[in-house]
Amino acid sequence: MLGDQLTTEHGPLASADPEATIVLTVESVGLVRATRAHRQKAALFFGALRRFSADLATAGFTVDHHRAAPSFAAAIATHLRRWPGATLELMRPADRGVAETLARAAREAGGDLRVVPNPLRLVDDATFDAYAHGRRRLRMEDFYRRVRAREGWLMDPDDPSRPLGGVWNLDHENRRVPPPGSAFPPPLSFEPDALLTEVLDDVERLFPDHPGRLRPFAWPTRRVEALAALDDFVRHRLPAFGPFEDAMVGGERVLHHSQLSAPLNLGLLHPREVVEAVVGAFHAADGHVPLASTEGFVRQVAGWREFVYHVDRTRGDALANANELGHDGPVPEAFWTGRTRMACVADAWQGLHERGWNHHIERLMVFGNLALSLGTDPRGLTEWFTAHYVDALDWVMVPNVMGMSQYADGGGFTSKPYLSGGAYIDRMSDHCGRCPFEPGRRTGPAACPFTVGYWDFVDRHQARFERHPRMAMAVRSWRMRPAAEQVAVRARAAELRSELP
Ligand code: SF4
Repeated sequence: MLGDQLTTEHGPLASADPEATIVLTVESVGLVRATRAHRQKAALFFGALRRFSADLATAGFTVDHHRAAPSFAAAIATHLRRWPGATLELMRPADRGVAETLARAAREAGGDLRVVPNPLRLVDDATFDAYAHGRRRLRMEDFYRRVRAREGWLMDPDDPSRPLGGVWNLDHENRRVPPPGSAFPPPLSFEPDALLTEVLDDVERLFPDHPGRLRPFAWPTRRVEALAALDDFVRHRLPAFGPFEDAMVGGERVLHHSQLSAPLNLGLLHPREVVEAVVGAFHAADGHVPLASTEGFVRQVAGWREFVYHVDRTRGDALANANELGHDGPVPEAFWTGRTRMACVADAWQGLHERGWNHHIERLMVFGNLALSLGTDPRGLTEWFTAHYVDALDWVMVPNVMGMSQYADGGGFTSKPYLSGGAYIDRMSDHCGRCPFEPGRRTGPAACPFTVGYWDFVDRHQARFERHPRMAMAVRSWRMRPAAEQVAVRARAAELRSELP
């Protein structure tokens, strides 16, 4: 069992006889070191795996759990010395290439490895492949509508081919910013038990120089906790999730977001039960869960999450190495250290440091946007994201960072680069009022780095985007700016590339 397959509800363990089943689980120190993972991420994966293994042992399984293993290959070799010639059975790993690597390790150790289906998806491979067949460009929206219609989620009871409320997408209702002084229901935190405390101690000892604060650690790491986190979200934060899903508030880490990506990506929750809980709350509630919130959340889980998995599965090998824009700059130093006067970056970084998590707008609109505008190497940025986020797996990060955020494939499944100047951050957050920079300024020492970066990006890539339906207007606008202003923007952008203020 891999650390992102922690389920006894689905897959091989659902029907296994505990007395006839040996389960191999591995805490790979080598993998955590190779990715230089945030310490909360290491604790989340090791903690959830160790607790899962302990629970399996309590249920009567023989569990061969490897703590602090140098690598998966080393653990497999040790396992096969104890059970020579065994055939390992592995649920298909979500990340590309893992099955082949582990099968090779098993063969070299004198055993074998058989891959069985992974049922932790809503949409199976054949269904996605039939949808994608013949399409050069993929669009999440078409895919999402098919999933909704197939499942009957939020569909019109009088005409099941039509969406409830008459429109598929309610994003226009979901662009609000909470008024000053708004209160946000805090998410549940989960106190570490003795076993998890041991894990935290191990992580402290093994990865002293890895990024991120380790304690307090409050993530759900067992199924019962993941279910409690789901219930807490549905009861307390789902109603206001939609309207404020794109907002940022200084010092507020969660707002109305679910934070369920971590237990979902561990396999502690199945996406179907998450979507059904949310849709069920919408139908059961006395109208207190609005359609816009429900639709916005279903779109994220049943639409985007499934879509990016299959994009990675089918196009990830090429996407992981794409660099259509030719960006080769380093990840800004401030992303590693948090040392910056830019209020939005400093605030998002603090949240990341504390828990290894930001909501999607901080990821896209702050870190991704800034990196793109400065011309950061998309592969380096993907490694940075993978290291820092507790829910970051390759299948998540390659499409989200390389494709969605950095446009590295030239728009294979996105309609334009995800780029904005400071004005949009100002509209969607309260950061700019506390920042020494001015979101509307393009030149001079008070110019907002996002705004400078935006126009410098348009300048550098104007030939590519001059006929692009959603970028051409920006190119025209740039070309009409006075030459002196263009020179000043280019010069300031060059300074930003060497050091962020
Ligand atoms: Fe961020 Fe620019 Fe606003 Fe400062 S002015 S908070 S750098 S967007």
